[in-house]
Amino acid sequence: MAQPFKLPPLPFAEDALAPVISAQTIGFHYGKHHKTYVDTLNKLVAGTQFEGQSLEAIIKATAGKTDKSGIFNNAAQAWNHTFYWNSLTPKGGGAARGKLAQKIDAAFGSYDKFKSEFADAAVTQFGSGWAWLVADAGTLKVVKTGNAEDAIAKGLTPLLTIDVWEHAYYLDYQNRRPDHVKAVIDKLLNWDFAAENLEKAQSVAMA
Ligand code: MN
Repeated sequence: MAQPFKLPPLPFAEDALAPVISAQTIGFHYGKHHKTYVDTLNKLVAGTQFEGQSLEAIIKATAGKTDKSGIFNNAAQAWNHTFYWNSLTPKGGGAARGKLAQKIDAAFGSYDKFKSEFADAAVTQFGSGWAWLVADAGTLKVVKTGNAEDAIAKGLTPLLTIDVWEHAYYLDYQNRRPDHVKAVIDKLLNWDFAAENLEKAQSVAMA
């Protein structure tokens, strides 16, 4: 991937997720927060060993290294947000279908049990962070991470994520993170994106 990194286009219009997430929230979240992570990362990697490397390679090389935390935080947040936008879709939510539905039943018992575990991870992440549905060695799991930490740095294959930093919901829901999380799960989760990620993980595992 060529540097400098560019802010990828949103996969939907800024007002497409309303009323679950307002155009105002998306405008700040994408146009200010996400853009700043990308711009800051470009400044931090210029002239370093990381110049010319992919975002994923930078994340893996800097994860857990305290002297590289600035680069890690901005690289991971640049990646996490692009993954997050793709995890959402205007007419999303509801139960997964097909192979993914079978995997969810096998891992969690039912879609409703998955939903409550995912919501619980998103609501109980203390402070800023992320809730993830991931594939790990053939099975599905829900995990949560703090601040910029992400699933790829942990060697997991992310399928979907929810951003639970306050900037993701405060303009629309103020302190009511549980209401925001429930609405995102019920109305916005992009199961087609999750299925693509699962498919990719399986083709890599079989290669
Ligand atoms: Mn965010």
